[in-house]
Amino acid sequence: MTKIAIIGPGAVGSTMAIDLKQSGAEVRLLGRKHQTITYYANHNTARTHSLEVTPITAKQSQVDVLIIAVKIPQLDAVLTNMKHLVHEQTIIILAQNGHGQLSRFDHANVFQAIVYISGQKSGSTVTHYRDHKIILQNHVLTRHFYEIAARSPLEVELTNDIDYAIWYKLLVNLAINSVTALTRRTADVLQVPGIQNLCIQLLMEGVAIAHAENVHFNDDIVEEIMTIYEGYPPQMGTSMYYDILADKPLEIDGIQKFLYDKARIHRIATPTLDTIYPLLLSQQKY
Ligand code: NAP
Repeated sequence: MTKIAIIGPGAVGSTMAIDLKQSGAEVRLLGRKHQTITYYANHNTARTHSLEVTPITAKQSQVDVLIIAVKIPQLDAVLTNMKHLVHEQTIIILAQNGHGQLSRFDHANVFQAIVYISGQKSGSTVTHYRDHKIILQNHVLTRHFYEIAARSPLEVELTNDIDYAIWYKLLVNLAINSVTALTRRTADVLQVPGIQNLCIQLLMEGVAIAHAENVHFNDDIVEEIMTIYEGYPPQMGTSMYYDILADKPLEIDGIQKFLYDKARIHRIATPTLDTIYPLLLSQQKY
């Protein structure tokens, strides 16, 4: 039987655990401590599951697939504590927003997953809102995981252009996360005069950086992302918005800092990003 461990019993990790348990694989959900998660499927309190969380440091056997679903600032601790779980053939899937974290792994089989699962954790309760999908690079190892997931509600899309998929999500996250976190307002902030223009400027800079990294989008990509933002309910928060309100470390390293550093390398003028990034950074206490 395939053994799967999921590190990070939050919104994404719990949803993947619930889904993958239906594949027939052995699925373990690992966190910082023993915990019982109450999970509301599809925002429906009538469809409740209970999930047991095992401490990551507990003695246990190695796994065939290791999924990491923690936020970027939490990755350091996971990298330190996960070694007993993997062998040379283990497939590691990093289910995270942002870009640039794979180089931190000392393992050959690490794949970035682009996550399309929406939910939120509060205390020991996870509320899943919508979607059960991740995108992975099309590779002989990910095809094995694809076959396991095909027996579960988790949709795995395999792509031959993983860079495009990563950068697309990165751009979608860039502007809306920045403005909601900095203003500490939900998506209704898009109605404030000038905020949509700020998003457009940020997105144009992001597209220019992507272009320099050899990732090319259609000419209407900024318009397309702004249309996505327009579809957000005004009361919807982003993960950076919730994290800043909760005084938690933000995923800046994989989004704004990643792009800021790339802009320096390629000598691209990014005046909006150059303003947004230090303003976000200065609110970090860590
Ligand atoms: P989350 O709800 O905050 O869950 C992260 C979990 O990891 C928490 O349960 C946390 O435990 C646990 N954790 C922290 N440090 C750990 C450690 N050292 N060892 C083991 N577990 C540890 O995060 P999420 O929303 O699932 O997000 C995961 C990633 O997916 C992020 O990159 C996020 O941006 C991305 N994403 C999220 C969504 C969404 O809707 N939530 C959508 C798309 C992408 P504690 O509770 O004890 O801190």
